Amino acid sequence: MASSSPPEVRLPTAEELLYRVDPNLSAAIAVRNYLNRMTPAPERLERVSVTKLVNPGQAYYDVVSPLEEEIGAFQKRMAGTGAHDRIEELLGLPAEYWLDGKDAAGEPALDRITAKLDSYVALADGSYVPVEIKNVGSSKPDPAIAHLEQLGMYCALLSSGKGLILRVLRNDQTGESTLLSPLEVRYPDLDLVRREMARRRDLLIEAVAARDPSKLPACSWSRYRCKYREAGVCGCSSRPPLEPNIAATATWKEAPEFLKDIERHQTERLSERREHRTQERLTPARLLLLRKVYFDIAGGDEGAIETEEGAGVGKAVAKVNTRGLESQLYAAIRGANRSRFGQSQAALPGVKGTSLSTIDGNPFLVKVRMVRNPVSPTAGEAAGKWGVPEEVRKLAVQAVLTGATVGRLYVWNWKLEGDEGRKLQVLDLKFHAAAMAQVESFVRGAPGLLAAALARKDPGSLPLCPRWMCPRCAYLEECRPGPDPDAPAT
Ligand code: SF4
Ligand code: SF4
Repeated sequence: MASSSPPEVRLPTAEELLYRVDPNLSAAIAVRNYLNRMTPAPERLERVSVTKLVNPGQAYYDVVSPLEEEIGAFQKRMAGTGAHDRIEELLGLPAEYWLDGKDAAGEPALDRITAKLDSYVALADGSYVPVEIKNVGSSKPDPAIAHLEQLGMYCALLSSGKGLILRVLRNDQTGESTLLSPLEVRYPDLDLVRREMARRRDLLIEAVAARDPSKLPACSWSRYRCKYREAGVCGCSSRPPLEPNIAATATWKEAPEFLKDIERHQTERLSERREHRTQERLTPARLLLLRKVYFDIAGGDEGAIETEEGAGVGKAVAKVNTRGLESQLYAAIRGANRSRFGQSQAALPGVKGTSLSTIDGNPFLVKVRMVRNPVSPTAGEAAGKWGVPEEVRKLAVQAVLTGATVGRLYVWNWKLEGDEGRKLQVLDLKFHAAAMAQVESFVRGAPGLLAAALARKDPGSLPLCPRWMCPRCAYLEECRPGPDPDAPAT
């Protein structure tokens, strides 16, 4: 009797896996509608956030007759919101903090004013210095007027004469983010700030109640694009100027010592992570990175071990905008599919149990692509170099782990101009059954393959990670993956 050969432990290529791609417009519309949802205008404003007080003219329309955002502005805002959360987590800053004006010291009273502080620094004397994280598109040294005004109002709510602005520069071409030097801003006249906050609060509440914005001042960014001006519903020149200008009283200087604190935290975080990684078993997300997992466990170069974000503050911050946008999209997908959303426990021997998100029991992934063109919805092109080959393979692994046979990909095309329904693509993927059987063999065989490579000290027996990762990998020298066949010729 002929002996049957053991199943091959190899993850099929995206081309081998992908059978069909069905663009799902309804699913994309559901997410867009969720993201664009507008709340009905209230009869009167009960609470006024500090962000509304920064530009009360625009806040009036946002409350009474909001307009949908142009897609580019929408993308920046969503990426910025998501980046905030990631920066706080990466840099070890205390999480967001609510402030209520009715508890603030000083005159006049700031009741009905609320604020969500990005973070703070607690000083030894028991006082707090507010920290405002800003996502910016330019590295010019001076902070924006609106940012100075917002921080000044937080300082007034905390009775702090100074605050910190932490700016993250977003590169819209590469998607990479860089931390700029933190700024320490001083506000010598907090009484002026308080008076101006109370005045703007009263003006805005009265304007909303009377549905009459005519007494509201022009916004501090009136020289920039504004959707209400473009729609012809408001005009800056018809408004009184924004005075007194809180920003005009502020002085600032660079605060490199704050960056040092952040770096210290990042070093601690990396060494904790390093210890964790050397003990960690395979996770579903790392099944495509067997070589990297090998070096993480084997120890690699002293000090070379990586986190997913890379080492150091610079690398940790680099992806905050794209990852931030992904996390915002994920939350919107969950919100738009509330009754169909689920969590499936991925449990296979040797693979760490992880909860994977599903819609209708099928796994999905979110991907931000730094490209101008949408994914071509044919199996050949979607699986090819200019498509989403890595996501196809990840989704196939997740499908096996969740007992599904199909998967869904939510793709956001960052550099694509305009929208026309292609900025967010939803692609339902179907896989070849034979290739999925091979994925199952791979998932079951990967822990053994890794253990054997570790025992033999033979990383070369493991498949390579996605090749775009190699140039910046800390293990490049030890691993010697060879030239990337897809790299552009030099
Ligand atoms: S038109 Fe000018 S004042 Fe009116 S909302 Fe826009 S920026 Fe503000
Ligand atoms: S060099 Fe490339 S293949 Fe080797 S461990 Fe690093 S990312 Fe993986």
